[in-house]
Amino acid sequence: MIVLITGPSGAGKSTFIAGLMARRPELEFSVSTTTRPIRPGEMDGRDYDFVDDAGFDRLVAADAFVEWAHVHGRRYGTTRRRLDEMTRAGKVPLLDVDVQGGVSVIQQFGDAIVSVFLFPPSWEELERRLRSRGTDTEEAIAGRLKTARAEVAFAPRYTYWIVNDDLEQAVDRMTAILTAEACRSRSFPAPPLE
Ligand code: ADP
Ligand code: 5GP
Repeated sequence: MIVLITGPSGAGKSTFIAGLMARRPELEFSVSTTTRPIRPGEMDGRDYDFVDDAGFDRLVAADAFVEWAHVHGRRYGTTRRRLDEMTRAGKVPLLDVDVQGGVSVIQQFGDAIVSVFLFPPSWEELERRLRSRGTDTEEAIAGRLKTARAEVAFAPRYTYWIVNDDLEQAVDRMTAILTAEACRSRSFPAPPLE
């Protein structure tokens, strides 16, 4: 199983994922590689693997990525190495990637993907959350809102939709999805009783 979470910037993905991971120890966050600058409070190797453009080019040339995309003017990608490490450790990888990456991994991994699109409760609330985060200029916020409209058009490609209204309730809905997914017959290599 690989868990995929996608949603517009400001929908609350990071907050939601932190709440979810505190409750589901089988999950491990998939650390992406990016060319964007590190933000205060972030740690290289924990939040992202931060590389420069030449470093990213080398990884692309070496076919190191399962998927990669331009997002908000920077490049982001999921490496095979990170995914393999998690799978070998018996963890369930949790990917937070944009719609381009999401559609790509849904196509590549099919039934193994539990895909979730996280919605903000409204456009007004999305704008409020983007402002409240305090990390973006007005111009960047306008850009993220425009991108958000294009992103939600991809939501029908995702199996599950969660509206991140009340955080606790949203995380409750996600833990119910994970429990149900783990009970699907295809999750078992053989029937529980021979
Ligand atoms: P994303 O990772 O999708 O860009 P963040 O997790 O950074 O979004 O959340 C954006 C802002 O919205 C943050 O200030 C966060 O505290 C707030 N937020 C997230 N989830 C909720 C929620 N359910 N209710 C109210 N505010 C929220
Ligand atoms: P941020 O820079 O705010 O951390 O992330 C910006 C956007 O990049 C988010 O929408 C996030 O889902 C997306 N993103 C993060 N990692 C990856 C990745 O590995 N691949 C793709 N395609 N998108 C990613």
